[in-house]
Amino acid sequence: MPIDTSEKKRPLVLVVDDDDDLRLLVRKALEQEGFAVNEVENGKEALDVFEQTQPDIILMDVTMPVMDGFAACEKLRQLPGGGKVPILMVTGLDDHDSIDKAYNAGATDFVTKPVNLLILRHRIRYMLRANRAIDDLDISKDQLARTQQIARMGTWEWDIKTRQLHWSNEVYRIFVIEPESLTDPYKTFLDLVHPDDRKMVKKTINNDLLKNKQCGIEYNILLPGDFERTIYQEGRTIFNEDGEAIRVVGTIQDITERKKAEQKIKFLAYYDRLTKLPNRLLFKERLGKAIADANRHGRSGAIIFLDLDNFKHINETFGHYTGDKLLKIAAKRIGDCLRNNDTAARLGGDDFGIIIEETHNLQDAALVARRILETMKQVIVIDGNEFYTNTSIGVSVYPLDGNNVEMLMRNADAAMSRAKELGKNTYQFYTADMNAKAFERFALETGLRKAVERNELLLHYQPEVDLTSGMVIGVEALVRWAHPDMGLISPMEFIPLAEESGLITSIGEWVLRTACAQNKAWQMGKNTNIRIGVNLSASQFKNHNLLELIANVLEETGLNADSLELELTESILMEHAETSINTLDQLNRMGVHLSIDDFGTGYSSFSYLKRFPIDTLKIDRSFVHDINTDPDDAAIVKAVTTMAHSLNLKVVAEGVETKEQLATLKNLGCDIAQGYLISRPIPAGKVVSFFGSWRESQMSDL
Ligand code: C2E
Ligand code: CA
Ligand code: CA
Repeated sequence: MPIDTSEKKRPLVLVVDDDDDLRLLVRKALEQEGFAVNEVENGKEALDVFEQTQPDIILMDVTMPVMDGFAACEKLRQLPGGGKVPILMVTGLDDHDSIDKAYNAGATDFVTKPVNLLILRHRIRYMLRANRAIDDLDISKDQLARTQQIARMGTWEWDIKTRQLHWSNEVYRIFVIEPESLTDPYKTFLDLVHPDDRKMVKKTINNDLLKNKQCGIEYNILLPGDFERTIYQEGRTIFNEDGEAIRVVGTIQDITERKKAEQKIKFLAYYDRLTKLPNRLLFKERLGKAIADANRHGRSGAIIFLDLDNFKHINETFGHYTGDKLLKIAAKRIGDCLRNNDTAARLGGDDFGIIIEETHNLQDAALVARRILETMKQVIVIDGNEFYTNTSIGVSVYPLDGNNVEMLMRNADAAMSRAKELGKNTYQFYTADMNAKAFERFALETGLRKAVERNELLLHYQPEVDLTSGMVIGVEALVRWAHPDMGLISPMEFIPLAEESGLITSIGEWVLRTACAQNKAWQMGKNTNIRIGVNLSASQFKNHNLLELIANVLEETGLNADSLELELTESILMEHAETSINTLDQLNRMGVHLSIDDFGTGYSSFSYLKRFPIDTLKIDRSFVHDINTDPDDAAIVKAVTTMAHSLNLKVVAEGVETKEQLATLKNLGCDIAQGYLISRPIPAGKVVSFFGSWRESQMSDL
């Protein structure tokens, strides 16, 4: 049978019938209707031509020689492209068996003999249209699946009544889950969500989705092998006619790549590619935020500008490669001088900026400036060449030197120029007055550094008296600095300085050794057996060598551990309570007495107090001061005393200045008193005469 390819554009009907007359009639009728027609005489021929002609529809008689319609239909369905072609069977009227058989063999529909040609034409038209619709649907399904795959987007559907969750193929792919292995999709899904996001995801699903809101959330999932991916999920609730929520449908999209791209763009916009530090733009943004934060909380902060004086020279002489390396090293060194929440930025060229949030005093900024000058002074080695750079630093503080970004930056810049004029390696505050203070403090620190070796430190001792027996049971050692020009300087002024600069280690050691030796000397001379209190600062307490130091000092001085009491403030102990317990336990085992100093000024947890192996609480003098005027203070002292006694601790009242205070304290059950009323802190020489003149009965006279 010749095939006229020009007819291909018209729908091609393959007519399969052994009845020549009927074929002719059908052909005429269909051709009139605009169809192309191809005829064969039996099922076998139909199979033979099917592949070449690819008809759009087949009209198939049931009873034919060689191969009947059922067999042909069945076989056709197996051929490539044969699965979808509509097959219209021509059966005998009311031949129910044939009709059933036809469907079973894969027929699409049937007409009965005698064939009504008018109906046949419409039937064929209808079937072709339906088939096209199915084709279109298949195509769009296919397209959708492909689009979803490209977009890494899948759809999901949650049936509220049956609680069944259905996922599209792409969702399985995104979650890397085999559909067969899934038993509980919701649980599997939640398990995949990154632990940090799980609570939020659950909350959104419960609060928004199931309560009929539309929502979009972003979260991370953790795939096997610790692959993290970012998902964007949307959902909306579907209602039935009664307004009842029946389903939630939505999409899930893997937006990992987009996020990465966004981050990269952000990095390019906000960071310096060479040093990886924030750039000028981000610096300004952060500064703006820092100023606003500071204003809100009544805090202050500082910004530091610095440039490398001879960078340009090095860059020009040794080339950009060396210049770049130098900048990277400088950036690293600057970063090492900062605390975690400070920002260092490269503002351009060899200019760097630093934001120091939360400064307690101008020393905080000065300290950073000095630290930077110190590290930048160190030699920089690049490919075997040694370089030295000088740094000029300008500091402006907010809100004092300005309360907006522009002004602060301008002023820091001005200060930096001044530092440059002054010469090599120096820093300047914007305000002249601050320079003076910063340098004064610097001088103090330099002086303190030498104070130990120059023997400028000395101890005063303040007696502590037992309120029941009236006996002096101890003294507290309090350090002073006899400054050659400034006279006696209070520990309140130089202990914090010593802490910051690390000098506390040597000063603390000196105090401990001197106090223990002194007590031993008193014990030998006068046969007194008092305890000596020594204050420990935070860094001393945290120092790993503390136990060794104390053991050594006791050994060297020959003082009994029981005659030494270490005073630690409440805040020091509570800061790392668990570690504190450990250290205190070890000290306790050595036989050293332990007391909590300034009690009531920090935050104590009763459960920890119970676990600290301490002997004494020293109630802060602020409570004692107003004990007769402020009923709250009296109540606090009373409560602390009761609690302390329940834990078998002795209570010392500090700063007792008047007889009235003493009487009240006695009433409230305090065990020991210390304060000007009994004695001011006095030099070692005077302690002996104090012992000599102190009478137990004096206590009751007070
Ligand atoms: P603190 O341990 O609470 O010492 C008691 C302070 O109260 C002493 O001040 C003492 O002179 C003062 N004081 C004693 N009785 C009275 C009184 O009746 N009224 C008033 N208003 N004050 C009284 P100081 O000697 O100036 O010491 C201040 C702080 O310096 C001490 O407070 C302690 O925290 C620290 N400190 C002193 N010596 C050392 C030390 O050797 N090492 C360490 N790490 N810190 C020390
Ligand atoms: Ca103390
Ligand atoms: Ca105290």
